[in-house]
Amino acid sequence: MSEFAWRNFDLYNPTPEHKMIRETVRAFVESEVEPQALEHDRREKFNLSLFRKLGELGLLGITVPEEYGGTGQDALAAVIVHEEISASDPGFCLAYLAHSMLFVNNLAVNGNEDQKKKFLPGVCSGELVGCMAMSEPAVGTDVLGLESTANLQGSEYIINGRKMWITNGCLDDEGTPADLVWLYARTGEKNGKPQLSTFLIEKGFPGYEVGQKIKDKTGMRASNTAELVFTNCRAPKHALVGHEGASVHHMMRNLEIERVTLAAMSLGIARRSLEAMNRYAQERSAFGKSLSHFGQIQRHIAESYAEYKACRAYVYETARRMDLNSGGNRLDSDGVKLITTTLAKNIADRAIQVLGGYGYVGEYVVERLWRDAKLLEIGGGTLEAHQKNITRDLAKSPGAILD
Ligand SMILES: Cc1cc2nc3c(=O)[nH]c(=O)nc-3n(C[C@H](O)[C@H](O)[C@H](O)COP(=O)(O)OP(=O)(O)OC[C@H]3O[C@@H](n4cnc5c(N)ncnc54)[C@H](O)[C@@H]3O)c2cc1C
Repeated sequence: MSEFAWRNFDLYNPTPEHKMIRETVRAFVESEVEPQALEHDRREKFNLSLFRKLGELGLLGITVPEEYGGTGQDALAAVIVHEEISASDPGFCLAYLAHSMLFVNNLAVNGNEDQKKKFLPGVCSGELVGCMAMSEPAVGTDVLGLESTANLQGSEYIINGRKMWITNGCLDDEGTPADLVWLYARTGEKNGKPQLSTFLIEKGFPGYEVGQKIKDKTGMRASNTAELVFTNCRAPKHALVGHEGASVHHMMRNLEIERVTLAAMSLGIARRSLEAMNRYAQERSAFGKSLSHFGQIQRHIAESYAEYKACRAYVYETARRMDLNSGGNRLDSDGVKLITTTLAKNIADRAIQVLGGYGYVGEYVVERLWRDAKLLEIGGGTLEAHQKNITRDLAKSPGAILD
């Protein structure tokens, strides 16, 4: 490598493959995602046929090794895909993330050989849709307090409990359940601590059904959210992932990619909002000048640009260092989600302000982005949870500040 070769290094498209993935997804988004986004938001509809096309493009198993039907890409590739889709339709992108990161990647890194061989090809192609069920009506952040139970009786686990807020929990308004659920339930206690275990629940297991379909969400309306109900649900012993009590390990291994891709979704929202306000400020005149001549508008645009660029570099640098199989960097995956989610909400808010009344209606996109952005400060870990984790991690490893 020549002395100055690093100067050609592109942080955002480091390899020709990454560049190609971005171009492919961008073209797909322009031709297929963008035209349906507003309508699906308004009608609160998940576009399942469009989702299955992501399988044809190899995006549903983006991080899964090729031998199981995936594309074998890294965390950076996953970030690129989420950033590009979310710049158009964050709601649709959330359904994609719930499937490809919360279910598919989880299975790829934590499942056993039989489970991977049985389910990964179907979820990578889009034939099967997956979801991840951790939250419950009374338990969110305090995950160790979850109340759903799974008790081994003979050759089956008997599962009881309710799961709340599950993205892809149902696939349509008729309440068709997801084909597969990555489920966390309590299997007892050890040393006074709850033992959480992970199960692969298949559509058709007796006692598994969709409860309430959650409607009238503020944003992310192009994704379905549902309550799942387990009433003496019978799951064969081999539905257990790993061993009893392994859930915390599973969560830790997948958490990093979940948070970094949620941050990438925020980047997409921020970028699109910034583009919209920049363009509008040039085109719209007031008092005989374009809006871009006014200092207060300049502040909205300039601060948004600089903050967006700083966050983008942090997200890409964190993804670049990520090892999909270890999930060890909680500090920065919390860090990028903490900062970019609020960034996206703030930039979308400024964009509405710059667009004035036009910003407040659907045609100009930013109101939808603003509504969608808020969820990212809650789902996949609240801001307060990230603040707690970061402070704890820095107390344990103060040297991380110098890294
Ligand atoms: C649209 C949508 C989609 C979702 N998709 C999924 C999904 O696919 N799968 C899934 O399992 N879940 C999903 N969730 C659930 C989401 O992850 C939870 O809402 C989130 O983890 C917060 O849990 P909670 O709502 O129970 O709030 P709580 O945990 O009850 O928190 C309420 C408030 O208290 C704060 N708080 C709690 N504990 C502390 C503390 N120790 N210190 C300081 N503040 C604290 C929180 O930060 C928050 O501000 C989704 C939620 C929504 C709205």
